Amino acid sequence: MVTETRNSIDRIFEIQKAHQYRVAASTCAERKTRLLALKKAVEVTFRQEIRDALYADFKKPQAETDLTEIFAITSEINHTVKHLDQWMSDRYVRTPLSFFGSSSFVRCEPRGVCLIISPWNFPVNLSLGPLIPAVAAGNTAIIKPSEFTPHTSAVIKKIVNHVFPPEEAEVVEGDVETSTRLLALPFNHIFFTGSPQVGKVVMKAAAEHLASVTLELGGKSPVIIDETADIKAAARRLAWGKFINSGQICIAPDYVFVHRSKAEPFQRELQEVLQEFYEEDALVSASYCSIVNEKHAARVYSYLEDAVERGAKVVFGGQKEAARISPALITDVPRDARIMQEEIFGPLLPVLAYDDRQEVVEYIRSGEKPLALYIYSSKNANIEYFLSNTRAGGTCINNNDMHFLQPYLPFGGDNNSGIGKSHGEWGFKTFSNERSVYRQHLPSVLEKLMPPYTAGKNRVIEWIVKLF
Ligand code: NAD
Repeated sequence: MVTETRNSIDRIFEIQKAHQYRVAASTCAERKTRLLALKKAVEVTFRQEIRDALYADFKKPQAETDLTEIFAITSEINHTVKHLDQWMSDRYVRTPLSFFGSSSFVRCEPRGVCLIISPWNFPVNLSLGPLIPAVAAGNTAIIKPSEFTPHTSAVIKKIVNHVFPPEEAEVVEGDVETSTRLLALPFNHIFFTGSPQVGKVVMKAAAEHLASVTLELGGKSPVIIDETADIKAAARRLAWGKFINSGQICIAPDYVFVHRSKAEPFQRELQEVLQEFYEEDALVSASYCSIVNEKHAARVYSYLEDAVERGAKVVFGGQKEAARISPALITDVPRDARIMQEEIFGPLLPVLAYDDRQEVVEYIRSGEKPLALYIYSSKNANIEYFLSNTRAGGTCINNNDMHFLQPYLPFGGDNNSGIGKSHGEWGFKTFSNERSVYRQHLPSVLEKLMPPYTAGKNRVIEWIVKLF
């Protein structure tokens, strides 16, 4: 891994700071040109290098790289290019009668110099993904990718250097020390994706300069499968959403509450699907990726061991070899086991049977607000019950993970699972200051009411307070 020195970090920041107003003045056509060049770099020029790097970093299958890293970027660019003229246009607002003689609009102006810190689980998607709205909104950006995926970080740097001059966008590689140095600089906006623990460090550092922040964090995302759910569809969709990327997904189903009447059939279906996906042995399957490193594999596996020590049963999978763990279904998990306390971020799935829907709601409410919550049901009353009695960053009904890819939906958490939203227009606004502009065309009513406050003026003020 290359680590930038403190001097070079400061130099890049100063160059971007000096250049930010030129970037801000770029036209919609110029921004689109940059974005389309980024698209070409990801989709064509560096596509094989991205696939090779992700395979080298954690044996990510090519199909998953194409779907979750390449497509995620190209589709976000397509959506942005399609709508950018509209997003960049001044948005006129209504004028109340009391403001007769004026007009008002909102202009999205760039925040300025932005910092993007990203995690290792979808390194391309979560580094270049936020760069798209940053560029679309006219900002400059420095990206700090994760030190845990060094091959991919090196390709990300090559791509950014291929498309952008350093005064517009640059990649700084390094670990916590580099991140800490970057966070000491007076960025205008910090877009952080990672764990809630580090999110707190980022927010404290941002407070020093009153930089605005977007925190895309994690946590435990529950799935509820009720007595009316289509079990076959639920098992298949959930198996994909949980076990791609070996479960290292911020919005992966973390644990499942299944109605007791459907618990057995659901487990059976899930096992069948997993056998179909990964055949005899997921540990050697070319369709299954590894955990990012042995340290993280040990962390994930320790959750399984702890649960088993407390009486849980591994009913399927759960074998470990170096940094690979096969998909595991775990039942009879006590609620105080570590697997029910911490974000799993790996291929272990606790399956809990429930009898009463209120019990599910109370359990979810007793924890932090999840980043995602999934409901499988064919009964509208149950769907509405679970939706309105819980809180979460986002929800899929009769599916999981898909809301991340729907470009017209905002993506993000709330409190412990995040602050602020990204994707599509929400991403553009995140990287913009919505500037209010009020323009006076004719003398305003207020001018007639300026001091001295005569009895007549007081009567008019009284009348205004009553009427408007
Ligand atoms: P992490 O928080 O450990 O690291 C993220 C980034 O922060 C890395 O670039 C790292 O170098 C840097 N960092 C680590 N410690 C730091 C510190 N003390 N000071 C400053 N910077 C520091 O996260 P991770 O392990 O890379 O990723 C896993 C977490 O990310 C999970 O919690 C997951 O849910 C979350 N995540 C969230 C989303 C989302 O969109 N909401 C997406 C992916 C991952």
